[in-house]
Amino acid sequence: MNRTFLFTGGFVATMDDTVGDFADGAVLVDNGVIKAVGPASEFHGVDADVIDAGGGVIMPGMIDTHRHTCAAILPGVGADHSLLQLINNAFVRYFPPMSADDLYVTSLVGALEAIDNGVTTVLDCCEVCKSFEHAHANMQALVDSGIRGFFSYGMNDEQYPGDVAAGAPAHAARLADVARLHDTGTSLMQVAMGLSHPGTVPFEETETEIRFAQRRGMLCCSHTGATKHTVLNNGVRERADRGLMLPGHVYIHCPSLTHREWQLIADTGGKVSIAPETEMQMAMGIPPFRACMDHGVKVSLSTDTVHCGSPDLLSQMRLGLQLQRCLDNEKALDQGIVPTRIELGVRDALIWGTRNGADALGLESQIGTLAPGKTADIVVVKRKRAFVPSSYPLGTTVLHANGGDVDTVMIAGEIRKRDGVLVGIDLDALRDRAKQTFDRLNEEMSKLPPEMSEAELDELLVTTERTARINFARAYLDASSDGRSSWRSDPTV
Ligand SMILES: [Zn+2]
Repeated sequence: MNRTFLFTGGFVATMDDTVGDFADGAVLVDNGVIKAVGPASEFHGVDADVIDAGGGVIMPGMIDTHRHTCAAILPGVGADHSLLQLINNAFVRYFPPMSADDLYVTSLVGALEAIDNGVTTVLDCCEVCKSFEHAHANMQALVDSGIRGFFSYGMNDEQYPGDVAAGAPAHAARLADVARLHDTGTSLMQVAMGLSHPGTVPFEETETEIRFAQRRGMLCCSHTGATKHTVLNNGVRERADRGLMLPGHVYIHCPSLTHREWQLIADTGGKVSIAPETEMQMAMGIPPFRACMDHGVKVSLSTDTVHCGSPDLLSQMRLGLQLQRCLDNEKALDQGIVPTRIELGVRDALIWGTRNGADALGLESQIGTLAPGKTADIVVVKRKRAFVPSSYPLGTTVLHANGGDVDTVMIAGEIRKRDGVLVGIDLDALRDRAKQTFDRLNEEMSKLPPEMSEAELDELLVTTERTARINFARAYLDASSDGRSSWRSDPTV
């Protein structure tokens, strides 16, 4: 349907350095494409469906570069969890009882929750691909929600004993299913490769997955260097030594990476997704904003999982920005300097959550900014409970607003939320269905063994790390080295 919309009555934050911002601006959308952006005065009399921002901010749709919609049915269940507690509970208690239909409902809830919070594009990292039906159900939920992005087919195996067969044949069968699903991708929802968590499988499988994605031209992502003081989820050097750090790979979290590993990501055109809230909660390390920027890698943001954190990217912008300001300020204070300026601004945070996200997902030519010719993914944020106008709309958007202030959401020219309400969704029916799933999963979980003790979790960590060291070492199985380090055998030393 050819429809024309005019977003006006607010501050237009294009996030495009050439186009610039407009204090009283307008955005004209025709047939799903941004036709013009400029001062509102230039658009008087235009025949269009007018969307009045009511003094709010008109901005690009937010882009979440790592979200697990498969967690959406149990919000807050991990609010006080450590990483080990969350991972163990997720893979032992929360995910195993999920049927494919449960996962469909869960992911639909998660995707709609994202849209409701102004997220128009998501890299949805599925951790529950325990059958082909599950993977397809999650993909279908994303398609049905109308959100843009990627379904990341999580290749994790051996996580659901008795449900998914382990070993090479099962791995090959799952890859074949990834190919089948990849072929069904649409212009709005594509299929990405979610690597088996590095170190949890023989390195040959990691290599196979990366090469598979490379051959098919698929976006590829992995949780990487997610926790300090452990080899788990790292394997960056091993991937580099095998020529497996491919351009465009999305490395998720990264607080434990060394300078050399950051250089490897930067030099190979890697992308990074930071999840400030989960990283801070779960002792993963300090969210690596400074490391990212210092190595010339663009920061993109993720909500990760509503098992613990907030479902909205505005919160991640706020947490990330204020955390990094605190760290920068403290560095100066430690030197006896009282800072006279703050380096990072709210506009930087908005860029992390919009155009940098588009860059991370390889969609920068289509979305991420409000510029003529781009696809119309647009969000209006109104401060619904404010008593006075904003003195600095970008500031109040990042530092004051929440998902409830997201008034309008357009994805590819389609209105998905208007006047604060999701469009085209029978919300009562969805809530009923979600509650049934919630109740059933809790009933099933009540039959499972109790959660692991701290001692059991610690033992599990030791065992898993041992497996990871063995698996990473397999990257060098065909190496010619005799095992002696070169500086010892160099006679000149
Ligand atoms: Zn994750």
